[in-house]
Amino acid sequence: MYTIEWQKRGLPHAHILIWLKDSLHVHRVDDFISAEIPNPQEDPDLFCIVTKQMVHGPCGSINPRSPCMKDGICTKRYPRHFLKETQTGQDGYPLYRHRSSQDGGFTANINFRGSEVSVDNTWIVPYCP
Ligand SMILES: [Zn+2]
Repeated sequence: MYTIEWQKRGLPHAHILIWLKDSLHVHRVDDFISAEIPNPQEDPDLFCIVTKQMVHGPCGSINPRSPCMKDGICTKRYPRHFLKETQTGQDGYPLYRHRSSQDGGFTANINFRGSEVSVDNTWIVPYCP
């Protein structure tokens, strides 16, 4: 089952629900879904796509007037917390791995309204590489 949404500023994106025959152990989730900046040396194409298309906002103190902001807080809960490993969430939603640079995560400089902004994995929207 899937739906495709078209947003004003970005590419069309799909919300996809997949039923698996066998359950997927939490340690295998990272084989299919990532919420991190890829290694720019290992996969420069994916690095470019993710840092251009899969960075939330920026919002918060960088951009308090972002549409996702309500009462000074991002309604999409960005930036997320650093997380060393993916975890199954209490509400059925997984908490995806968002490693800090100390744990091997990458950072990137993105262009935001003519300025360069540094982002880390806490700003990355989950995607399937
Ligand atoms: Zn936000």
